[in-house]
Amino acid sequence: MQKRALITGLTGQDGSYLAELLLEKGYQVFGLVRRSSSGNLDRISHLSGNVQILSGDLLDQSSLMDVISESQPDEIYNLASQSYVPLSWTQPALTAEYTALGVSRLLESIRRCKKDAKFYQASSSEVFGQPDESPQTERTAFRPRNPYGVAKAYAHWMTINYRQQYNLYTCCGITYTHESPRRGTEFVFRKITSTAAMIKLGLAKELKLGNLEARRDWCYAKDAVYAMWLMLQQEKPDDYIIASGETHSVKDLVECAFNCVGLNWQDYVSVDPAFYRPDESVQLVGSIEKIKTQLDWKPQYSFEQLVELMVEHDLKKLTNTGC
Ligand code: NAP
Repeated sequence: MQKRALITGLTGQDGSYLAELLLEKGYQVFGLVRRSSSGNLDRISHLSGNVQILSGDLLDQSSLMDVISESQPDEIYNLASQSYVPLSWTQPALTAEYTALGVSRLLESIRRCKKDAKFYQASSSEVFGQPDESPQTERTAFRPRNPYGVAKAYAHWMTINYRQQYNLYTCCGITYTHESPRRGTEFVFRKITSTAAMIKLGLAKELKLGNLEARRDWCYAKDAVYAMWLMLQQEKPDDYIIASGETHSVKDLVECAFNCVGLNWQDYVSVDPAFYRPDESVQLVGSIEKIKTQLDWKPQYSFEQLVELMVEHDLKKLTNTGC
């Protein structure tokens, strides 16, 4: 029988890739999309007709219950959240409403409307904040250091509590930063790859960045969504770190991106302290031992391949549109 999946956050980076993956696998895919005055369907316009869009909002419990009752999903992937860390400092309460309490509303809706659905919660490496060990594992203590991380920590523990208390099939994937050509340019990886392409084409002159020594664990969003799907195919629910397992500095990334367009990065890049994060969670790197051993998952794309594919995408897009 055809499997049915409900994705929240369908219009986001991960939601759009996950929808593609599930369609390829023959699922009937439903997406919960919130009403916005301007519309935000760019990342999924190529899927129109294949994905059934249902109107709902993580802020509204009854809409979540309606969407679950209507779609009757076998699997639910909660990818929706306020996902931008700096904004969580200026809008901490709204971040908690979406990213923390939204998950309570969703779990409660599942308990009431579709108890046998399998549930994936998008946790984040930001729950570790300033970790006391490196690399982090599924057992590393949570010490979130920004409102986004705090909200994700709440959602993580609620997901586990619903598994323990109500015997629901619920899982948390603790993802580290993952990127793609569909990532917003407010995130440093895409900012660098798109600006390198713009400079190459004469559309920009310089690139201003924060801390070049900051290190991150980056992987490709397509690899990450495959891990999410894999987690829900297991007999028993469990929580896993989804990461590349290695770190690279912002400087490594800049060098690689400018190499891809045949330019010397030092001629174009300057450091602006205004771009330093007020509270930077550095040195986050995930141990992928558990997911590798138990689910046979590891990233298919290297850091260099990821940089290259993003720069190439931006060059092509900018050449076609000129902006
Ligand atoms: P994203 O591109 O920012 O997408 C967020 C999605 O959430 C959008 O579809 C947005 O819809 C939706 N959303 C926000 N508020 C909502 C609400 N009140 N009701 C319903 N939908 C709402 O995020 P992403 O990069 O795909 O990340 C997916 C998930 O993984 C997020 O939970 C994020 O926090 C988590 N995560 C991501 C990363 C990463 O590196 N990408 C790392 C760790 C964890 P609109 O289009 O209407 O705004």
